[in-house]
Amino acid sequence: MEKATVLVIGGGATGVGILRDLAMRGVDVMLLEMRDMVHGTSSRYHGLLHSGGRYAVKDADAGRECIEENTILRKIGRHCVEATEGYFVRLPEDDPAYEKEWVEACKKINLPAIQIDTAEAWHLEPNLTHRAQAVYRVPDAAIDGFRMAWQNIDSAKRYGGRVKTYTEVVKIHSVNGQVTTVTVRDYFTKQQYDIACEFIVNAAGPWAGQVAACANIPVHVQPDRGTLVAFNHRLTSRVINRLHKSSDGDIFVPHGSITI
Ligand SMILES: Cc1cc2nc3c(=O)[nH]c(=O)nc-3n(C[C@H](O)[C@H](O)[C@H](O)COP(=O)(O)OP(=O)(O)OC[C@H]3O[C@@H](n4cnc5c(N)ncnc54)[C@H](O)[C@@H]3O)c2cc1C
Repeated sequence: MEKATVLVIGGGATGVGILRDLAMRGVDVMLLEMRDMVHGTSSRYHGLLHSGGRYAVKDADAGRECIEENTILRKIGRHCVEATEGYFVRLPEDDPAYEKEWVEACKKINLPAIQIDTAEAWHLEPNLTHRAQAVYRVPDAAIDGFRMAWQNIDSAKRYGGRVKTYTEVVKIHSVNGQVTTVTVRDYFTKQQYDIACEFIVNAAGPWAGQVAACANIPVHVQPDRGTLVAFNHRLTSRVINRLHKSSDGDIFVPHGSITI
């Protein structure tokens, strides 16, 4: 029977990051992904490397984490990041009191939000509305989730990490509360077999509840797909955020020749 000290279930951004981290620490680790890598949310997202501006007011901890991780990812995944920078733009109908609150919140989480002249913003972003009342520059960026995942996998493999794709976990076995084996199903042959392990990391994103159920553990997950609109051209060079309480459809992220 194949063995690994740790089995990571799920080959999205979370799973591949954990795979690399554990492999670099010398842990015997194997990742199991039921389809191909980044089959889940991590290939169907906005691709915004958040500066933290979106969360500064409503969730300072998340905002702080964003700016810290943003700085790290620019260093360790430079070729996956397009350093576009971003603008937060207030329109006449947006509450000026929120702008003040947002500026203070950005200071508290050490996010450099620098106000720039609207004329300069229009010069640099000709498609930006001339109704803009205030514009702030933040270190937002565009990130390529596919490249980032493959970089993590390549690196993990160099440290001895192993990956099995098209391998779905269907049952988790334990004895006295200690996990012992998982049963997996090969997507192509439909054959089932066991892999021995000591620890499991459930990195199955929206499927986390189903994976937990394989070990008879209730985890309530209410998945929500969300909707993204892709424009077939690049509207702006920078990420454009609306400076109001974060809501739906209020960010443009440029990616290569398109905008999401
Ligand atoms: C519409 C939308 C836009 C977003 N935009 C952004 C953004 O701009 N910036 C940002 O930072 N975040 C964004 N997010 C959030 C981000 O995409 C997610 O937080 C992230 O992708 C989650 O990654 P994950 O690895 O946890 O889950 P996933 O990427 O969903 O990975 C889970 C993996 O587990 C696998 N799996 C499931 N069950 C099993 C099983 N039984 N056996 C083996 N494998 C299994 C799946 O196939 C899948 O590949 C967005 C999310 C959504 C929905």
